[in-house]
Amino acid sequence: MKLQDDMKQHRLDFASSVDISTIVDLRIMETTDLHVHLHPYDYYADCPNPDLGLARLAELIDQARQQIPNCLLFDNGDFLQGTPVGDYIAYDMGLKDGETHPVTAAMNALRYDAITLGNHEFNYGLDFLMKSIAQAAFPVVSTNILRSKGATPLADRHLVRPYHLITRQLEDRSGRAQDITIGVLGVAPPQITIWERQHLHGRIQTRDMVEAARAWVPEIRAAGADLVVMLAHSGIGPIRHTENMENAVIPLAAIDGVDLVLCGHTHQLFPSRVFDDIPGVDIERGTIYGKPVVMSGFFGSHLGLIDLKLAREGGAWHLLDACVSTRALRDAAHDFAPAAPEDRRAPLRSPMVRKIIARAHEAVLENIRTPIGRTATPVNSFFAYLGRSAATALVAEAQRDFVARHLAGSDLAGVPLLSSVSPSKAGGLGGPRNFTNIPVGPLTLRSLADLYVYPNRVAACRLTGAQVRLWLERSVSAYHQIHPGISEQHLMDPAFAGYNFEIIYGLDYEVDLTMPARFANDGREIPGQQGRIRNLTWKGAALDPDAEFIICTNSFRAQGAGRFPGAGPETLVLEHPAITRDILRDYVTAHAPLSVAADAPFRLQPVNGANTILRTSIAAHDHLDLIEDFTPEVLGVDKRGFLRIMLTI
Ligand code: MN
Ligand code: MG
Repeated sequence: MKLQDDMKQHRLDFASSVDISTIVDLRIMETTDLHVHLHPYDYYADCPNPDLGLARLAELIDQARQQIPNCLLFDNGDFLQGTPVGDYIAYDMGLKDGETHPVTAAMNALRYDAITLGNHEFNYGLDFLMKSIAQAAFPVVSTNILRSKGATPLADRHLVRPYHLITRQLEDRSGRAQDITIGVLGVAPPQITIWERQHLHGRIQTRDMVEAARAWVPEIRAAGADLVVMLAHSGIGPIRHTENMENAVIPLAAIDGVDLVLCGHTHQLFPSRVFDDIPGVDIERGTIYGKPVVMSGFFGSHLGLIDLKLAREGGAWHLLDACVSTRALRDAAHDFAPAAPEDRRAPLRSPMVRKIIARAHEAVLENIRTPIGRTATPVNSFFAYLGRSAATALVAEAQRDFVARHLAGSDLAGVPLLSSVSPSKAGGLGGPRNFTNIPVGPLTLRSLADLYVYPNRVAACRLTGAQVRLWLERSVSAYHQIHPGISEQHLMDPAFAGYNFEIIYGLDYEVDLTMPARFANDGREIPGQQGRIRNLTWKGAALDPDAEFIICTNSFRAQGAGRFPGAGPETLVLEHPAITRDILRDYVTAHAPLSVAADAPFRLQPVNGANTILRTSIAAHDHLDLIEDFTPEVLGVDKRGFLRIMLTI
């Protein structure tokens, strides 16, 4: 199929020459980055949240299917991990052979047409993933995740099938059946083998997404596809293709023979303003190089739609027009009123989905409310970027305690231990509710899930003092450069992911915010920058660049995620199979009642005449005493719902 550069012009020409009985309306629907958000519930806050989850999305899907006779539904990956529900199924309930994972069961009920795998599918290991999708009634495709890499992409051995052909009879505008074949392929960031090295090393290889797709798309065409849909678990990033790039949607859309791209991974929306002014990207039409592209948020926040108008002329299908949109649950009527059964184009699937999801939800609620300890001090992450955070202090101490016990008696027992932690929840793209907030009182599994979101394991690397300093530089690059004498400068650079801000406990250091960042968001060192770390000491003395340290961290970081200087398989000295959250559980149970100081291992150096804005949770209002020395002034709530606080630094 050839998509015309000027669809409107083309539609006019074409519409006069084709007869209406060859015109077909086809709706392509996307869900992406569901992260086990099924029931509309916030498990960390233990309260309903109607703005997310597959259960309510199922109602939007039902509704969308009533509007157009021909619909296809795809999921773009990252469906298996991300809430306590995912952990409960993986760790507590487990999957017996032949048992269906609730996410798969819900997807079966919704009659998905195909899905692809995201990076988080591998968080619980390969065997759990394969069990989770074994009962899928729909094809799972991935073109670049491999059992073994061949000499060329066509010689690769794939983990799941590289592509699938959907053959359908679609109803045209005059009610007649038309045969069409839709080819579906899927790609995900090749970094999966780094991020999940402990599960995948020696078992899985990956190939560059663009390289794999370029080789396979002509095969899919040759196999008879009239239309090729790319499921890209990847975001909209650089224009130019570089090998193994993580966010490759623009070069993927450029591939000849790809008609549509469904994307995700970066948890954004497309079309949206964020992608304004990128050459080739049209946010009005929702296209990249003229091809329809959609990205539908995260956690089931939106349903993505591409409505196609196709016409058959001779033997070939032509795309006359496409309309790209996303529908937000937040904007949807809370009670979807279905059409009477006799008026329905398609049977409703949402009641079945609700039933499947309700069972998992009840079991998880009981599990997360089980008491495991007590805390005598509040534990939150509202001021993690100011170094006043019991949330990071608690994780750091539990990690350190665990590693110390595991290295006792080994050759490494005498090497000084440091503990590095990033705030698991610190606002950002996750929104104003994305903060750890544990009040004084009983601790439950929910508290731990609130404290530590990712299913990482404890790990440790052996670094030199010089590497430790660079590790801190990479971390404090997350701040904006602050200029003296200027008011209301934003403290944090929103281009930086919160999970790449690490605090090292066991050191003492200061940060000079007047200096430019030494590292870019992707972890690359910016040449010629001297950095921001000042007065770095260990036990009261300047840090010796040649001294050796063991740095306690997590498996994700230790394997090289975020490209922290010195982290990687070469320096890894410990990786324990126990997940960090289980270690936290043991720690809080053994240390009840907990008393955690929100002490700062670092200070921001004063900047003359400057003040900065911190965006944090509304709940931070009750904890301003933690940052008294910054003379906080609450400015109000911004339109995303973050509390804005002005700080003198
Ligand atoms: Mn995701
Ligand atoms: Mg992802």
